[in-house]
Amino acid sequence: MIDINKIKPKVKDESDKYSWNLYNFLNRLFNKSGVGKYYKKQLEIHWLHNSRWDGSYLEFNKDKLNLNQILILPSGKQHYRGTFYELSLIMGKGKATEFALPYSYETTDITEWFFNTYERDGRCIFDREHNGWWQGDKERFTYINNTRKCNWCGEWHKKEIKKVQVIKREETWV
Ligand SMILES: [Zn+2]
Repeated sequence: MIDINKIKPKVKDESDKYSWNLYNFLNRLFNKSGVGKYYKKQLEIHWLHNSRWDGSYLEFNKDKLNLNQILILPSGKQHYRGTFYELSLIMGKGKATEFALPYSYETTDITEWFFNTYERDGRCIFDREHNGWWQGDKERFTYINNTRKCNWCGEWHKKEIKKVQVIKREETWV
């Protein structure tokens, strides 16, 4: 069972290592009268293999998580095949519409991996390159000389100065 207190941001309404929207969504789901206690036991996170972009088959790759391919199934897949929410909408907007899971959807259950990794690395789970821009990421890095430490997942990075040659094109009329 998921203990959402472990992925709760420190300040209300603010994301830090963890997304406030995701925490708040799960919290509301688990406290829903009547069904909340079942969701708490049955909720699953799934990777959707059918690309939402062009329908092609996407392998689950834990180092390249595409937010758009992750679904939250409040009552799991076994129960009436279930319904789903889109994780990207939940994280971006704080809410999403609940849909029935279409039969054409091929999914893999990543619940355990997802929560263990999210608890450990926070939102870096979605941004292993550390290039992303996230709301509430001001405290993400600690800079020491030419190195920086990611305060969410603990990774260290070294700054490299690269020489880039630029070819300039000018248009002239002769
Ligand atoms: Zn990180």
